[in-house]
Amino acid sequence: MIEYRNLRVALLGAGSVGSQVARLLLEQGDEFASRVGAKLELVGIAVRDVDAPRDVDLPRELFTTDASSLILGADIVVELMGGIEPARGYVLEALNSGADVITANKALLATHGPELFEAAEQVGAQLYYEAAVAGAIPIIRPLRDSLAGDRVNRILGIVNGTTNFILDRMDVNGESLQDALATATERGYAEADPTADIGGYDAAQKAAILASLAFHTTVPLDRVYREGITGITTSQVDAAREAGAVIKLLAICERMTDPETGEEGVSARVYPALIDRHHPLAAVHGAHNAVFVQAGAAGDLMFYGAGAGGVETASAVLGDVVSAARRHVVGGPGVAESTHADLPVLDIGRVVTRYQITLDVTDQPGVLASVARILSDGGVSVETMQQSVPSTTGAVVISGNAAIHGAGAPTATLVIGTHEAEEAALAATVEALAASDVVTAISSVLRVEGS
Ligand code: NAP
Repeated sequence: MIEYRNLRVALLGAGSVGSQVARLLLEQGDEFASRVGAKLELVGIAVRDVDAPRDVDLPRELFTTDASSLILGADIVVELMGGIEPARGYVLEALNSGADVITANKALLATHGPELFEAAEQVGAQLYYEAAVAGAIPIIRPLRDSLAGDRVNRILGIVNGTTNFILDRMDVNGESLQDALATATERGYAEADPTADIGGYDAAQKAAILASLAFHTTVPLDRVYREGITGITTSQVDAAREAGAVIKLLAICERMTDPETGEEGVSARVYPALIDRHHPLAAVHGAHNAVFVQAGAAGDLMFYGAGAGGVETASAVLGDVVSAARRHVVGGPGVAESTHADLPVLDIGRVVTRYQITLDVTDQPGVLASVARILSDGGVSVETMQQSVPSTTGAVVISGNAAIHGAGAPTATLVIGTHEAEEAALAATVEALAASDVVTAISSVLRVEGS
């Protein structure tokens, strides 16, 4: 029988994820010992209420409300409480005592990441956070280790299961946003207060974490541009379907050249965007997550799976526990978080992408020429323009900047697809269109991603 040394693991939190981590640590102790070369001893579980009912039956004597005492003397601390305080304080206590810390807390990392990584570096401890982005999907380790010899250029992520579930219901079942949200709540995919999900806040936290890691640059949460899905209408979803596209809430992290200065920078942003139905991300249904990575040498990579769930997320947490434990056995300083590139984070106005603009216009000779002129004056080049004239000719498609004259009905709808344009130019052009006599309404402006 092999005599393994003991590694003391302290768990902070025994909710959806923590209770599963505790269960698996207790059930698979021998297996972990063989994999790690040390016995992982769960020394205690800190919670708010030791008598609260739990999903999993765990030994009563492990529970405590005294997290600080538990942290003292632990080799590895697993923070699964969530929220900023007291989680931040406990993580700092653990790191300062030399313990490695594993967390799934995206809110904490997105707001206090640099402080925590600095504290870890000071004492040579490690901070692991695989579960903080996209639940069970391995994405942090691939970005940090597997792609360490490559150059990540762009990440497009569906990193919020609730919004993907809602948009998918709207697309596949034709439900309104309100109905799809009600279904998501009924099935436990949405919280009682869904703001963090549908407002894009949760996805923005994950975008900040991914962009910081991928571009070796600190990307603070307040530099992540964010739009949620609350404005998405059934007609936008229907129009996208007819055009062979689908609307997804995307977290986009991109290495780009500032169109004004020519200097390299990065952009991190979250918004609902159109993507072609043939794009791999279009096939991500329900509450699943996926992260599409474009790297210089590796090309396109896609990571797909469960973005949440107690036991699924516990898998990612335990992968980190095993990594931390192996480091304790083998020794060495581990990998420090790198921000050496220190690239500027560009404003949303500097972002360059394609757009789809849907307008109602007066249907009279010369209208299309006027619209085309406004776009061209704004520096926005038209790729396609589709005019639907309900009472007469149906739809007419034109390419480039050529204009056609509508006839017959008193108003018509124009769907304009642009070539790549700078966001600031596009915004000014949309304002000019709104002010024009020939435009009666702008019903939708959506970015087009994934090309
Ligand atoms: P949860 O179900 O709300 O559980 C939180 C746990 O932390 C509970 O056991 C609670 O104790 C304990 N806790 C909270 N505040 C505390 C305090 N002040 N002192 C001591 N204990 C405290 O949370 P969860 O869903 O497991 O999520 C945990 C973390 O994982 C979060 O950061 C979350 O963002 C992240 N995450 C979750 C998922 C998921 O699918 N759930 C997916 C990815 C990442 P009591 O039980 O006594 O109330």
